[in-house]
Amino acid sequence: MPRYGMPEESRAKEVVYQMISDELMLDGNPRLNLASFVTTWMEPECNQLILHSINKNFVDANEYPITTDLHNRCVNMIARLFNAPLGDLEDAVGVGTIGSSEAIMLAGLAFKRRWQDKMKAQNKPYDKPNIVTGSNVQVCWRKFAKYFEIELKEVKLGDGNYVMDPEQAVEMVDENTICVAAILGSTLNGEFEDVRLLNERLVKKNEKTGWGTEIHVDAASGGFIAPFLYPDLEWDFRLPLVKSINVSGHKYGLVYAGVGWVVWRSKDHLPQDFAFHINYLGADQLTFTLNFSKSSSQIIAQYYQLVRLGFQGYRSIMKNCQENAMALKEALERTGRFDIVSKDNGVPLVAFSLKDRRRHDEFEVSERLRRFGWIVPAYTMPPDAQHVTVLRAVVRCDFSRPLAEKLVDDIQAVLQELDALPSRCPPAAGTNNGSGGKENGVVKKGGCFSVNSIGGRSNLL
Ligand SMILES: *Cc1c(COP(=O)(O)O)cnc(C)c1O
Repeated sequence: MPRYGMPEESRAKEVVYQMISDELMLDGNPRLNLASFVTTWMEPECNQLILHSINKNFVDANEYPITTDLHNRCVNMIARLFNAPLGDLEDAVGVGTIGSSEAIMLAGLAFKRRWQDKMKAQNKPYDKPNIVTGSNVQVCWRKFAKYFEIELKEVKLGDGNYVMDPEQAVEMVDENTICVAAILGSTLNGEFEDVRLLNERLVKKNEKTGWGTEIHVDAASGGFIAPFLYPDLEWDFRLPLVKSINVSGHKYGLVYAGVGWVVWRSKDHLPQDFAFHINYLGADQLTFTLNFSKSSSQIIAQYYQLVRLGFQGYRSIMKNCQENAMALKEALERTGRFDIVSKDNGVPLVAFSLKDRRRHDEFEVSERLRRFGWIVPAYTMPPDAQHVTVLRAVVRCDFSRPLAEKLVDDIQAVLQELDALPSRCPPAAGTNNGSGGKENGVVKKGGCFSVNSIGGRSNLL
């Protein structure tokens, strides 16, 4: 098969199909990829809808008015799920995106522009915008800050404290802060940040300073969990300073990769010249995206899930995920070998660290689990908790109880293997104690078992 240069001649479709399928067998099994929050299973009926609409470019709104309407219905349902005020005066607006990353860029840009307009109107300098977040932010926030020239002011984490502290965040707010970004469901340990407390403290600070700093909630995972599992938790538009929220349709929205959503509390929170309006079907169609063309499939699939499952369906799936996460957590605790770093309330996942890492570390556990087919990433926490390494298993709807039980069995098998091995860093590094550099098939580098990037940071999605 040609690798880097395009071949001169065409080849038979059966041959190309077979060769590519064969190569792809060596990819990991998505269903066993516990590194990712992104959906890996949908019903066959929905798969069919996806296939049928894969040739529809979503941007052709005039040609595909029904698809556009399904998009608008999704925005409506999600806005209501987040308790958006939908009265005569305040009308929420929203848009489908490729994922939360695009949604966050859009929301962040809206905050930046509105802050600039405010500063200009007051004849103040507007060239040094900043945004306040926790160090636990997902990488797309770092991209947003870098690409759009905004200083990222991070609230540092600490031992046993892996999300943004609202008090410290509010302290870091200054006149150049475009917004504070809170995370509902930290990527690192699934924990929800205290948006209610953040709102309360920020209201007080705004009263004193008059800066009017507002909040964006990154609810990439939590946006489809909290409304079902924790309906009384106030994190959304019920809090007055929350002006926009993003969610990944392709995470707990239960659609395959390629869909996210952003909702603004009202039209006024979008700079006028940012939104492009298309008028048709008697409705004002808002288009505010970074890219132009994309498939309609994921949007149609999102509508399918919202309608097929309904509130009850989503709730029972999230409850099931939560129960499986608890079963996994308890089984891991029973091994006596791990500290649990995730919270019981939050995104259904289990983040755990080895109690004793003098002889072996989490990266070795991750690497050895790969042999059983499991993809469980190991990573270090951001500052100032970088000395903490965790393994993380995300529980999705297609991860059943028997699989959770099997995972624990396999983790125990890995621990037994590791216990039987010499320590990963013997005192005399560089010697290979006569085993020819190999011990049970594990290649040693300079006396240490090699730990490569499998399950490393790069797998943290
Ligand atoms: C996954 C995630 C993102 C990025 O979302 P995509 O939909 O993958 O672009 C942003 N923030 C948080 C908290 C996430 O978990």
